Amino acid sequence: MSFKLRSALLSTIGLGLLSVSAFAQQDFSTVEISTTEIRNGVYMLQGAGGNIGASVGDDGVFIIDDQFAPLSEKIMTALGELSDKPVSYVVNTHWHFDHTGGNENFGNGGSVIVAHENVRERMSTKQFMKAFGREVPPSPEAALPVVTFSENTTFYFNDSQIQVMHVPAAHTDGDSLVLFTEANVLHMGDTFFNGFFPFIDSSAGGTLDGVIASTKRALGMINDDTMIIPGHGPLSKKPDLEKYLAMLEEVKSTLKPMVDAGKSLDDVLAADPLAEIGKTWGNGFLNTEKFTSIIYDVISGS
Ligand SMILES: [Zn+2]
Repeated sequence: MSFKLRSALLSTIGLGLLSVSAFAQQDFSTVEISTTEIRNGVYMLQGAGGNIGASVGDDGVFIIDDQFAPLSEKIMTALGELSDKPVSYVVNTHWHFDHTGGNENFGNGGSVIVAHENVRERMSTKQFMKAFGREVPPSPEAALPVVTFSENTTFYFNDSQIQVMHVPAAHTDGDSLVLFTEANVLHMGDTFFNGFFPFIDSSAGGTLDGVIASTKRALGMINDDTMIIPGHGPLSKKPDLEKYLAMLEEVKSTLKPMVDAGKSLDDVLAADPLAEIGKTWGNGFLNTEKFTSIIYDVISGS
């Protein structure tokens, strides 16, 4: 089976297990890539999977994440409308296949793929996503990041500074935030789902405390003018991230005492302690019940 087909199947199967079907049973042939201009040659592209950030200028094209393999051609076409220069760099915010699925195509096209060392490590080996009972096979060599870093790395490209900063044990163990300094645009990968409950991949080293810490770190480096590209959801600004932090802290203060008191997952689900907050946050990627059970596992370390 070709990588493209296998990857498309995996995405469909993997996402189909999510309790909310927004991304389930995705037919990639109908997906269109939309391009939003932010400023200073920085754009957000949306199709299916994680939001893409792009910098376009004299040096060429630099992108953050590349969604699914079957969308690579459409993504390249959308980027081609912004620039006739090649995609020099792809930075992956983390290893998940809805953010790295296009790596093989971009890598074969000559892009240099850059990510935290744990992204390469996880993409190189078989993974098991406990939350969805899903095995993810190793990616082919051409899809792997060829430059890795352990803490931070900085690009000087298109007359701008692009800071890539690792945040430990957050959505996974290999997440990065990417700040376009001059444009004042921050891409947060899946440490930020704007407007709905986030997935935290505990089987890949993700923790709730880490997501809270990375959110606080992000809030410390932005101002009222910063445009934030979330991993999923619409383009956002500081108040959206503040609401997200408040939600995460409420979830922690609600669920942690129950876990610490030794309540079973069934007890917690029966009590439905996130019912109220779920009216706002539970209508997206994960419904309240699925999110509760994922965070129960994350907190209890099971
Ligand atoms: Zn993810």
